[in-house]
Amino acid sequence: MGFERGFLEYERIEPETTPVKERVKNFKEYFKTLTDDQVRIQAGRCMDCGTPYCMYECPLHNTIPDVNDFACKGQFQKALNVLSSTNPFPDFTGRLCPALCEEGCTLGLHRQSVGIKSIERKICEYAFDHGLVHAELTLNRSFKKVAIVGSGPAALACAQGLARRGHNVTVYEKNDKPGGLLRYGIPDFKLPKEILDRRLSVLEGEGIAFKTGVRVGKADPGEKGVFCNASDEIPGSELLSRYDAVVLCPGSEVPRDLKIAGRDLKGVHFALEFLIAQNLEIQGRGENPIDVAGKKVVVIGGGETASDCIGTAIRKGASSVTQLDYHDELPESVDPMTSWPDWKRIKRTSPSQEEGCTRLFSTNTTSFVGKDGRLTGITTQKVKWAPGHRFDGIPGTEGALDADVALIAMGYSHPSSALAREFSLDTDARGNIKAVYEGDDAFRTSNPKVFAAGDGRRGQSLVVWAIAEGARCAEAVDRALRSVSHART
Ligand SMILES: Cc1cc2nc3c(=O)[nH]c(=O)nc-3n(C[C@H](O)[C@H](O)[C@H](O)COP(=O)(O)OP(=O)(O)OC[C@H]3O[C@@H](n4cnc5c(N)ncnc54)[C@H](O)[C@@H]3O)c2cc1C
Repeated sequence: MGFERGFLEYERIEPETTPVKERVKNFKEYFKTLTDDQVRIQAGRCMDCGTPYCMYECPLHNTIPDVNDFACKGQFQKALNVLSSTNPFPDFTGRLCPALCEEGCTLGLHRQSVGIKSIERKICEYAFDHGLVHAELTLNRSFKKVAIVGSGPAALACAQGLARRGHNVTVYEKNDKPGGLLRYGIPDFKLPKEILDRRLSVLEGEGIAFKTGVRVGKADPGEKGVFCNASDEIPGSELLSRYDAVVLCPGSEVPRDLKIAGRDLKGVHFALEFLIAQNLEIQGRGENPIDVAGKKVVVIGGGETASDCIGTAIRKGASSVTQLDYHDELPESVDPMTSWPDWKRIKRTSPSQEEGCTRLFSTNTTSFVGKDGRLTGITTQKVKWAPGHRFDGIPGTEGALDADVALIAMGYSHPSSALAREFSLDTDARGNIKAVYEGDDAFRTSNPKVFAAGDGRRGQSLVVWAIAEGARCAEAVDRALRSVSHART
């Protein structure tokens, strides 16, 4: 424990941010890293409590009190060692995680919780700045070959886990660069691509081979909104014959559509069409064809994707940004009946929403309206929620708003069905690749040689969950490969 009375004597500080007026002028990251002095004090607020619920709430089960102890003493190498033993990519989670751990922090019951996410980020940035992050090579080679499909956080965590256990890993990615949503979904202002590339170099140094621009199996022509710039294709059967195991981490790429009148009007897009094109533009690879400058933009949906669309539209000079969310507006303060350490159901405002957007709650989008084939407006109706996650429109609350561009950010249903068909795999009721959750066969699909992890198996989720799934899947694949080799010898 860092400071015995730290939790009483020091207040939580949030990492410094670039003021809104400045940051909306570009796509640069606006959260700053804590200074060495700040992190010592912030980590010293940790109470090292008897039952650290922070560890329980974190899908990676990071041993947060130990990490905080070392960070408080300025022993960053030790802090990094402990942190990396459970979290292979604190550089991603320290930026993107909603910090489920902080909801579980005991200090948060009466005061502000420990700023675990900003401490994690500091440790990782310090480590990269001081050359403490290295490729780790093992001499204990297994000579087993594993193919991983996809290169998002689940795939990267799985690849690292397997490479460090001595297996030969090849990652197949249909897009021209690796990273999954970290590269082609999440904007630079949340995750600069240099941070991703810095980590990918470490992984390459560990012997992981990346084959990009290669789609595994055929595309499903019926599926709208799945991005692919592959130049090559490889059948699943070839992976099954060339590798000892195949791990599928395809993400949850099929977007939920809003099939209402006017959906085909020009100006109505899936969120990722806009965000991917913007990521490509920032990489200098052509202008974003969805021009929002001087236009009225309406974002439909209430999650992270919607927030990223808001921040991007503001940076691209939209004249107004309105967010339509059919969920009810949550209260500003916590309901005292909420059981701790459950996720608090309170109104949260993302940094992008803070940058200037009108939020309309309990509002359903009922049609897209247009003229000469172009979107000009949206009709809406207020809704009332009923038991069973059902809502009904309230008669007499119909409304309309002007819109030049509408971005549908209503989440994702499942991975492309084509991949499950390619390997003849069972899927669950929601269309995800079916794989066992626990036990000796964890992560195994209906084909014993094929494993699955990440959003493609659990449904759309979070980066931290994708990393946790990938890391645990690596353990499962390793166990399976080693039991096969033992059986053979
Ligand atoms: C816009 C947006 C913003 C988000 N922001 C956050 C955030 O701030 N914090 C957070 O925690 N989570 C966030 N998320 C969620 C998070 O990004 C995902 O949960 C996470 O990336 C899932 O990781 P994954 O590895 O399972 O899949 P993905 O990251 O989706 O990667 C899957 C990869 O598989 C590839 N692939 C698919 N099929 C094939 C095939 N047949 N052949 C070859 N390659 C294939 C895809 O091209 C893709 O690169 C966000 C999601 C979106 C869409």
